[in-house]
Amino acid sequence: MAAKLEYIWLDGYKPTQSLRSKTKIEADFSGKLEDCPNWSFDGSSTEQAPGGSSDCILKPVFICPDPQRKEGYLVMCEVLDSHGNPHESNGRALIEDDDNDFWFGFEQEYFLWNPDTNKPLGFPDGGYPGPQGPYYCSVGANNAFGRKIVEEHLDVCLDAGLNVEGINAEVAAGQWEFQIFAKGAKEAGDQIWVARYLLERIGEEYNVSINWHCKPLGQLDWNGSGMHANFSNTTLRTTGSEDVYKKILEAFRPVVKEHIDVYGAHNEERLTGKHETASIHDYSYGVSDRGASIRIPLYTVQKGWKGYLEDRRPNSAADPYKVAARIIKTVKSAGV
Ligand code: ADP
Ligand code: MN
Ligand code: MN
Ligand code: MN
Repeated sequence: MAAKLEYIWLDGYKPTQSLRSKTKIEADFSGKLEDCPNWSFDGSSTEQAPGGSSDCILKPVFICPDPQRKEGYLVMCEVLDSHGNPHESNGRALIEDDDNDFWFGFEQEYFLWNPDTNKPLGFPDGGYPGPQGPYYCSVGANNAFGRKIVEEHLDVCLDAGLNVEGINAEVAAGQWEFQIFAKGAKEAGDQIWVARYLLERIGEEYNVSINWHCKPLGQLDWNGSGMHANFSNTTLRTTGSEDVYKKILEAFRPVVKEHIDVYGAHNEERLTGKHETASIHDYSYGVSDRGASIRIPLYTVQKGWKGYLEDRRPNSAADPYKVAARIIKTVKSAGV
């Protein structure tokens, strides 16, 4: 039977790239990544090439079943230029983790958004719901908005084989989170992007859009959206040395700008020092500290400095490939 392969890639828009996809029909498809051929698209329509030389190449890098489509597969792709080199928009190609030593758990926050009122679900026409407090991890029609979408998304992600670890309603009305963990930075990025794709597509059924902006309600007293990056490598998982942790944490201090550059657009609106964030200008770390740039989870200390770290600065609109690539670079630069 003919299979439907949905080739998914990231466009070249700045400062935030968006998902694009198109369907390829393959007869007698094996379901394996190595049997997904390279494909091409019109890069002049996605800000990835000039019109006179418009072809860009899609190189399949991750495949999973598409649970919502008969004989369907989702195929995450890297974009190559017409010479076969990684396109400048290709953040995945920057990841130096060939042995999958780096494990990442991303906490993806987002708002479910009503495109007609241009407000989150749960916001009444021409006004605001009650202040933050009751919405986080809530139940009930007064406080939890859009659960049907969130549940459908969770089921579809699990059916696709994505390693979702949990979901929760977040602090603002209409705001939610899912967590995905993978052993290997590229795999973690692939899974986050496929999960984002599925969420966007499910939203279409309900006329609800997904707002990835990190501060969609501006400077009112509503939380922004993050994408906390929890990370570890063999050293962080096994060292047992506070000193080694300090060396790695100090390696982040001189490269604040390099990190913020890839931690998502408009992060200055979110990293204000309020709403469980650190200021974008500072660098800090601390055990169990949700106001720090990097939190050392209590778990890591209780295990005798064997565990992981949480960089709380990446935002909801960041590219997990670029975030992971930069974290890996900095951790390696510590030389421990
Ligand atoms: P919180 O909301 O308290 O910050 P979550 O439970 O939402 O925490 O997310 C914690 C994340 O940390 C999970 O995605 C989990 O997979 C990830 N994690 C746990 N252990 C490790 C590890 N050794 N390396 C990388 N990530 C990890
Ligand atoms: Mn969380
Ligand atoms: Mn959260
Ligand atoms: Mn977190």
